[in-house]
Amino acid sequence: MRPALFLDRDGVVNADRGYVHRIEQVEFLPGIFALARAARARDMPIVIVTNQSGIGRGLYSEADFAALMQWMAARFATEGAPLTGVEHCPDHPVHGLGSYRRENDRRKPGPGMLRDAAARHGLALGRSVMVGDHATDMLAGQRAGLPFLVLVGGDAAEAAAAPPGTLALPSVAAAAAWLEGLRPATPAGGAAPASEPGRAPLPGPRCEFGL
Ligand SMILES: [Mg+2]
Repeated sequence: MRPALFLDRDGVVNADRGYVHRIEQVEFLPGIFALARAARARDMPIVIVTNQSGIGRGLYSEADFAALMQWMAARFATEGAPLTGVEHCPDHPVHGLGSYRRENDRRKPGPGMLRDAAARHGLALGRSVMVGDHATDMLAGQRAGLPFLVLVGGDAAEAAAAPPGTLALPSVAAAAAWLEGLRPATPAGGAAPASEPGRAPLPGPRCEFGL
């Protein structure tokens, strides 16, 4: 089993404009593809986990969402970092219409989407990374047993509501630099690489993924 990079979508992959569901609404955030390539360089599958109550609220359809995500997945592939999976939850306990009005443990802060992705793709949750822009993303990661919770966007209220141990970084680009700078797993048959002189230490946990 391999550790994964779990990405929230709105506010991490693309700017959060509220209920993004059309291609022309997508503005990819700086650093997102560097972050994705850093994951692939470590052989970490990339999975987007996104609450999509806009479907349950009747603002757009499952087909709209699927079409947008197919387009987005193609862009990740073009950028050299193909996605392994996309998990979404259309339900909302209050604002969902009809059968969409229900509690669902897949809806973040529930851990269901991460657990389902792990079962689907054979992922090691206990060595995985969650990157999100809300405390609910971090809580979902914590409840799924992830050791690396990375909050981006610089919102102080979200940082205050995030679980202890959350690494708060100002931007997606900073998260890319963090993942690029994590000490690589020991190469097969070799010693750990020498440290890079002159490189400033990175904030937050440093560890080996043990790939
Ligand atoms: Mg978000």
